[in-house]
Amino acid sequence: MNVIEPGGTIGILGGGQLGRMMATAAKHMGYRIAVLDPAEDCPAAQVADIHVKGKYDDLEAAGELGLHSDVVTYEFENVDERVSQFFENEGKLPQGTLPLAVSQNRGKEKEFAEKAGIHVPAYRIVQTGEEFDRAVTDIGLPAVMKTVSGGYDGKGQYLLRSPEDCSSAREDIWDGKYDGKYIVEKWVDIDKEVSQVFTRDSAGDISFFPVAENVHKDQVLFTTTVPASISDNETREIRKRTEALAKELGVVGTFAVEWFVSGEDVYFNEMAPRPHNSGHYTIEACSVSQFEQHIRAICGLPLLPVHTFPAAKMINVLGRHRDDLFQSLGSEQVHVHDYGKHESRPQRKMGHVTIIGSSPDDIKLGEPAWSKSW
Ligand code: ADP
Ligand code: MG
Repeated sequence: MNVIEPGGTIGILGGGQLGRMMATAAKHMGYRIAVLDPAEDCPAAQVADIHVKGKYDDLEAAGELGLHSDVVTYEFENVDERVSQFFENEGKLPQGTLPLAVSQNRGKEKEFAEKAGIHVPAYRIVQTGEEFDRAVTDIGLPAVMKTVSGGYDGKGQYLLRSPEDCSSAREDIWDGKYDGKYIVEKWVDIDKEVSQVFTRDSAGDISFFPVAENVHKDQVLFTTTVPASISDNETREIRKRTEALAKELGVVGTFAVEWFVSGEDVYFNEMAPRPHNSGHYTIEACSVSQFEQHIRAICGLPLLPVHTFPAAKMINVLGRHRDDLFQSLGSEQVHVHDYGKHESRPQRKMGHVTIIGSSPDDIKLGEPAWSKSW
């Protein structure tokens, strides 16, 4: 693989907070940044050298980004496959299109995991009311229905606890709200949710970040904590399965896999072919962040070994907490990140804080008051 040296330009497909944090890591190393995103002054454009305004399926705009870029990366999975294929054909997309295409589709990603011998919650793909009824009968309640593509932060999900929940979900299949397929999944009785964020270089070597424990509220990530309260055996098992998936997909760059721990079972939930919200703690808690490792991997530089503080906790800041966020600027132990988004909505991710400590108990002392009412 070509080495892209500092001074070269990295093109980022997507202008959200992940692109912004990739860009700032790359800037520290001396790279220039070009961003493709339709929104004026989006989070990544604020720290980029060049902003190409265009949608993620606009081949002409993609071509313009390509003219500026020595290497291209995507920061989220809803980039059009044709756009990523275009850059792959040009030899400019080390991440490749396959991980993107698989993770764009909840059905494909579960099939992929199953083929690698990994357990997934029972599921059915449904397109009609009859298929929905059969899926619910086969799988049983509680279950969850999700859009097969385009969902994030719990968007496009229907919890199915009662026959009434099923009737309203069934109606939505037909009311044109979403033009595509749904997946119905068994609702797993989760003891713990964990994620494995890692980086893989083009030679296939992997550098793992610590397994992190995630708490969601209303299907949105609330906190990520390290170390996760899982056994060494569970960590080994998760790493073995993650590595099998990564190899199968030919991952290059930073990547994340979410897992459900339920009793003795570990189920695959989903994957992200890019840096992940549950890896934000690595910016302050690790010797190298998920973003710097990503930039290193796609630029053909060696990955760095990961050393981690004894304990860390990341708390997401949604629109409804943004004013409280600034109180945390005066707190010891708390690092504040604001993504520079202009439009605040109650459920929108606006920033995050990371608390660093010498032990899990130490972390508790640093937790901001506003996070209690999250
Ligand atoms: P998103 O793309 O929105 O992150 P996920 O499939 O990861 O979608 O769902 C978000 C959260 O909802 C999960 O992290 C988990 O807390 C909960 N969840 C989703 N599917 C299931 C399931 N089958 N069983 C139990 N909890 C689930
Ligand atoms: Mg998820």
